[in-house]
Parts: sequence; C-alpha cells; structure tokens
Amino acid sequence: MSILSDIWDGVRTTLVGLKITVPYIWKKPVTGMYPHERLDLPERVRNRLYVNMDDCIGCDQCSRACPVNCITIETAKAVDGDSPGVTSNGKKKALWVTRFDIDIAKCCYCGLCTFPCPTECIKMTDVFEFAEQERNNLIYNYITLTPEEVQEKVAMEKAGDAAVLARKTAAKGGAPAPAAAPAAAAPAPAAAAPASAGQKLHVPPGTDPEKAAKIAELQARMAAAAAKRQAESAASKPAAAVVAEAAPEAAAAPVQAAPAAASAEDDPGKEARIAAWKEKIAALKRERGES
Ligand code: SF4
Ligand code: SF4
Repeated sequence: MSILSDIWDGVRTTLVGLKITVPYIWKKPVTGMYPHERLDLPERVRNRLYVNMDDCIGCDQCSRACPVNCITIETAKAVDGDSPGVTSNGKKKALWVTRFDIDIAKCCYCGLCTFPCPTECIKMTDVFEFAEQERNNLIYNYITLTPEEVQEKVAMEKAGDAAVLARKTAAKGGAPAPAAAPAAAAPAPAAAAPASAGQKLHVPPGTDPEKAAKIAELQARMAAAAAKRQAESAASKPAAAVVAEAAPEAAAAPVQAAPAAASAEDDPGKEARIAAWKEKIAALKRERGES
C-alpha cells in the first residue's frame, strides 16, 4: 500500500506543478532580448545630464545645488565689444563659460541641479547607456569654446580688470586729496599698464573674420587706453618715475622702492596706502606669472 501511495503522491504533485506551468505555454514570453528589444522608459526618468551651452549664462546655480559637487564651472567676464550672445529667451549673457564639467561617475541622478537653472538649459535625459572602461572618460566637458578661445577670453577679462583698476586709480588720484596722495597713488598705473598694454590677445588660426576684427578693435582700444593712462601718469609723476616706466626691466624696483622712499611723517595714512599698493602690485605680478 505504501508503494501505491508514494506513486500517487508523485503523480499528484506533478499535476499540481503542471497546472501552474502549462498556461504559460500559450502566453507571450516576458524576457526582453536587450539590446535588440528595449522597454519603454517612464516619462520622467532621470538619466544622463544634457546642457545646452547656447543658453547657459554661467550663473553657477546648478553647481551650488549639487549635493555631491560633481559640477565644475569657470567663467570669464565678457569685455565691451565681445558679447557672448543672448539666450533663446532673450536674456543677454555677461559671462563666457570657460569650463563646464560634470563628473557623471559621481552623479547620483537626483536632478537637483535642473531646478534652479534660470534658463532651463540643464536637463536630465533618458540616455542610460554610457558605460566606459576608463573612469576619467565619465567626466563630461560641455563647453563649446576651443582651448585657444578659453585662453583668449581669460586674457581679455584680466586686461579688462586691469583697465578698470587703472581707471579707479586715476579717478582717486584726480579727486581732491592731501598733498601726499598723488605720491602714494603713483605705483598703480605703473603696475597696471603692463598688464593691459602688454596683453596680446591671441587670435586662433581660422577664426571667423568678423570675430578677429572685433578682437583687433579691442586690442587697439586697450592699447589706446594704456597709452592714455601712461600719458596721464607721466604728467602727474616725478621725472624719476617716468624714466622707470620707460625702462620696463627696471620698473619693478622703482615701483617697490617709491613707497619705501616716501616718508610717512607728514601723512599718517600713507603707510597703509603703500601696503595696499604693494599688495595690488604683488597680485598683478602673480597674475602675470612673474612671482
Ligand atoms: S543630478 Fe544631482 S548629483 Fe547629478 S549633477 Fe545634478 S545635482 Fe549633481
Ligand atoms: S544653472 Fe543653468 S545657466 Fe546657470 S550655470 Fe548651471 S546650466 Fe548654466
């Protein structure tokens, strides 16, 4: 009896199993033959990021919103006559975006960077197939400028800053001031002039002629402004300082020696001004890679 019972148990459990399995013989298979067959993704799926650089204004808000700091942005201020253009919604750009990197290997696809963007130019797409053998290949560079153009924009920004600094200095020097003020203000043009007058803007080969003309025009304006500053400076300086400017290799010594030679006895604020100018001169030299 026990043998018959065992046989019946075997047949019964097999039939129970087949009762579940057999209906699937007439159903469609559920296994997708990826990559030949693809499933439809949800409408709001968050995968690889896309940045429309034509609309990016370099405001850095996406980078600040990122919880894992995987967005790196660097910008250069646009100078007069070299506009970065306008966004598709008509907003005038004021900055050149000289670096826009996203380390997509660090990205956690939270989408927080997309919300603060004022021009809605950073978006999450449904692209998910971007595996790489090398981790560094997952650092995406979105800028549209060439390395030469980046160099050029940064140089133009520095030249513009130096010109603004010189204008401010000239404005300060021209205002009514104590008798010792012009002596303290004298080092500024000497330090600022080489940064702008000596700044040769690079025009990469094959540059659009219109753009090249704009750069040339800017270069000419910078040279004219530098010449004007030098003339103003020469008119207001002692002869020794003018001679020092005429010999650039010797200029560093007079620039630093002049404040030291000036006596602070008759002006208690002079030392502070001299220290401030020394700091500015050092900063300009650092920018020019001279120290
Ligand atoms: S999706 Fe999130 S983690 Fe990725 S870049 Fe944007 S803010 Fe950063
Ligand atoms: S928030 Fe938008 S406009 Fe601002 S830097 Fe990021 S991508 Fe560009």
